Amino acid sequence: MELTHIEHIGIAVKNLDESIKYYEEILGLKCYAIEEVKDQKVKTAFFKIGQTKIELLESTDPDGPIGKYIEKKGEGIHHIAFHVNGISNALKEVSDKGIKLIDTKPRRGAEGLDIAFLHPKSTGGVLTELCEEKK
Ligand code: ZN
Repeated sequence: MELTHIEHIGIAVKNLDESIKYYEEILGLKCYAIEEVKDQKVKTAFFKIGQTKIELLESTDPDGPIGKYIEKKGEGIHHIAFHVNGISNALKEVSDKGIKLIDTKPRRGAEGLDIAFLHPKSTGGVLTELCEEKK
């Protein structure tokens, strides 16, 4: 498997507008995109630092994955996303090595990336996303 960089860090927040303020006014970053991902029931806001992005995730539905996460664990770091060359092969490779997958096939995520999640039970408790920029 060929990981190239940390694509983004996903952070679950209760209120996107308030969190954007923190990242902009305190940390001095600039939110360059806000996007709703309907099938994940989230609204996302993106910041860029070097090659890496911060992805803030606000739930649009208490029953969505982020809504449930915040209810259980509160706000905080939700997942880490690695950019990989050849996401389908990477998924097959980790699955063959016994890692439990949440997504057995890549699906379309925010910013038009192909994404797939590995199950935190197999990854030392860190929800792990593999993603690949469409060429
Ligand atoms: Zn993500």
